[in-house]
Amino acid sequence: MSQPRWLMATTNAGKLEEIRALLAGEAITLLSLADCPPVPEPEESGHTFAENARLKALAYAAATGLPTIAEDSGLEVDAMDGAPGVHSARFLGVHASYPERCAAITHRLAARPEAARSARFVCAVAVVDQGLVRFETAGVVEGLIAQSPAGGGGFGYDPIFVYPPYGRTLAEVSQAEKLAVAHRGQAFRALAVWLRQQSASA
Ligand code: IMP
Repeated sequence: MSQPRWLMATTNAGKLEEIRALLAGEAITLLSLADCPPVPEPEESGHTFAENARLKALAYAAATGLPTIAEDSGLEVDAMDGAPGVHSARFLGVHASYPERCAAITHRLAARPEAARSARFVCAVAVVDQGLVRFETAGVVEGLIAQSPAGGGGFGYDPIFVYPPYGRTLAEVSQAEKLAVAHRGQAFRALAVWLRQQSASA
């Protein structure tokens, strides 16, 4: 019997690589937006990660007819009143590079002591099937903004996010080490448990 097809509604290669690793053991065929005919991108107008995950899942499920998983994630820096937050992908404008975005944040926090460098990554996940939100979850990892970027792994803001128990940025650790502790790992492991419950009760 063929596996059910689910859409993971993202075009972000860094996220997709992590999500494929996290859901590798599940009995589903995970498609991405690259596998679907072009679909208009919904405006991420929510004020929270959860709202944006839900609106993306609803929009892409309606457009494709597929059961759809969407996630919204980003970095909250306490010394910047939670910015860039839900605007993480657009911080400094859509054409800014991640080295530029990371440098702007470390510059803003320059000379601040460790206690004033707290930050977190948040990942909210929503699942929509046949027009209804079926499941929602979130993951959060607390850390510190580095004095300067370090590491060549990961993506996005990983080079400036120090995970204190590792004493390194998330760009300096292996993918397995990042997924074991970070926001997306937490959220998609909860999703995997839910997916298994669904297939057991089907
Ligand atoms: P969105 O969820 O598509 O709005 O984009 C999330 C933004 O936060 C992107 O700019 C990502 O690069 C950034 N982001 C989300 N998760 C991570 C992560 O695990 N590491 C580094 N940056 C991340």
